Amino acid sequence: MQIKSVLSRFLELLFPPRCALCGAVIPAGVQVCTRCRQENPCVHAEKRIDLPEGGKTISCKVPYRYEGKIREAIIRFKFYGRTSSAIFFGERVADEFAGQADQFDFITSVPVSAQRKKRRGYNQSELIARNAAQRLRLPYAEVLEKIADNPEQHKLSREDRKRNVCGVYRLLSSGTIQGKRILLIDDIVTTGATLGECAKELLEAGAQAVTCATIAEVEYPQLKS
Ligand SMILES: [Zn+2]
Repeated sequence: MQIKSVLSRFLELLFPPRCALCGAVIPAGVQVCTRCRQENPCVHAEKRIDLPEGGKTISCKVPYRYEGKIREAIIRFKFYGRTSSAIFFGERVADEFAGQADQFDFITSVPVSAQRKKRRGYNQSELIARNAAQRLRLPYAEVLEKIADNPEQHKLSREDRKRNVCGVYRLLSSGTIQGKRILLIDDIVTTGATLGECAKELLEAGAQAVTCATIAEVEYPQLKS
């Protein structure tokens, strides 16, 4: 037995893998327990996201509703540092595109501001997107940045949400965008204002197509947390 596998067995004994939804100890290699998988089935929804101008819409795949244990897990993941859940969320988002990875050139995520990332220590959407990219065997690329630490969307009305995100995302490097088919990932979707604004930036920079995906859809006006 190699030293690495001895070490990983030892770490598994000390820190056994736990269900991303209920915390029960589970076998290595799965992300949630059988009971949680049965009680929280994917709904495989598709939402249309309005682009800010021109009346066009793009597709957003959403495996879950924002409720019950999924909602609790997203809150732990986003606000309480439970970053290990990114594997489960990334896999579920990736599975919405099983067998269709060749439709995309790369995966990216909705950025958070530098201040927010510093405070939280990570961008939750990036962690989901990186795990999804790994599962779909697609490259992950950071192509957008958020240039303003604007108020959080869940405190705002539908119209204010559109205004709040307008112009706050900027392209990092236009060279990688031209003609590309991009899968854009965020953690949750409510009105779609954030995804629409990011997609607009990518399309204006020459992307051929943008498709979106999030873990869950929050029914507006239910709050994010
Ligand atoms: Zn469980």
